Amino acid sequence: MSCHRPEASTSATRSADGADHNAFSLMQPRAPAATPKEARNGARVKIHNVAPQGVYLPNYNVLTPSMRSPEYVQMSTAAALTLGIMSGKMHRCECTRCLNLLLTYPEGCRANCAYCGLARHREAERDYADRNFIRVDWPAVPLAQAIDIVARDGAKSPFHRMCISMITHPRSDEDTVTVLRQWTDRIDPATIPVSILSNPTTMRREDVARLHDLGADIFTVALDAATPEIFERTRGKGVQSPHSWSKYWEILMDAREIFGAGKFGAHIIVGMGESEHDVLTLVQRLVDLGGHSHMFCFFPEKGSLMDHLPATPRDQWRRVQLARYLIDYRGVRVEHMKFDGEGRVVDFGLPRTELDAVVDAGTAFRTSGCPGKFAEDVSACDRPYGDSPPSNIASYPFAPNGNDLRRIRKQLRIVEAK
Ligand code: SF4
Repeated sequence: MSCHRPEASTSATRSADGADHNAFSLMQPRAPAATPKEARNGARVKIHNVAPQGVYLPNYNVLTPSMRSPEYVQMSTAAALTLGIMSGKMHRCECTRCLNLLLTYPEGCRANCAYCGLARHREAERDYADRNFIRVDWPAVPLAQAIDIVARDGAKSPFHRMCISMITHPRSDEDTVTVLRQWTDRIDPATIPVSILSNPTTMRREDVARLHDLGADIFTVALDAATPEIFERTRGKGVQSPHSWSKYWEILMDAREIFGAGKFGAHIIVGMGESEHDVLTLVQRLVDLGGHSHMFCFFPEKGSLMDHLPATPRDQWRRVQLARYLIDYRGVRVEHMKFDGEGRVVDFGLPRTELDAVVDAGTAFRTSGCPGKFAEDVSACDRPYGDSPPSNIASYPFAPNGNDLRRIRKQLRIVEAK
């Protein structure tokens, strides 16, 4: 098994209309189709009720076992390879530093976000545990087995962080607490800190506080959309999904108060129709609140309601990636930058020699997320090839080498090669 696979979908340098950015008018999701009654709410899996036998590797040719959190969790292919429960290699990566544990139920996520492979509208086509998510399969593993392996490895564990990824499901809040308790019973959170990727729609302030009291280190909110209009179109009523921009911000502000500065953040997907100025204004707002942004480059996930749309052109993505790094880690403010009439960055607000040094260091182009043990600005969560194919990497899961940096400079265009 390898993360390197041929892929038909685009890894664009230009969007479909030839522009160097994905405009709002272009990025319209498809409307979700109605799901036949016999496929709703995980009915297929529940009717057959096949008992799971240990690790389940997604396989569309067998009946999907009935697996539920907290007994079962799913994890990315990269995490399963690192944990040693799958064999194989990843292109240019030895392992991932973040063990992401995704809650799982036969009913799956009850939301319908347009860019997401886990969304509810897919229940007619594919059972939840078999759905691709951020471009890879997610094996299902008994939680106790995953904890045993990490506890056995102790200080030698390759993981710098664990992250519990909630979904929209009535059991999600309670089961997140159980997973966190079972983990911290065996593994000291000072050794492997825990992040929560939350689901604000079902949460109250007390839920946020409980996770903090139980030892969670960082709390993130997957805003994903950079503006309220894009949020509504991709995660709200536009696609019959239950989320609201205001509820997400309510929980984000609760997390700010409860977890404190540097310990909360938001996920943002770049290239779903916002301008560069829009997304960088949001990045600045988060920094001013004391938080961080964790960025993803939009990629048309197969089976999602946006799988017909272009990936984010690389020049748009690189400009935002670089500018976000400068705001998050170098004290540059969005007001120091200059933008053109379409909101694109034309000046990063730094003298050329300083900008060159940041580009050459390469960290700005690595995957962003909660920090690991290497450096404050190097994410534990490296999500290998989660937002691009390896042939045209968007977020580098490792330090980019000389060739990579030459390519990045070309993609940036406004920063010419030395
Ligand atoms: S809530 Fe999260 S997991 Fe569920 S459809 Fe939306 S993005 Fe996907």
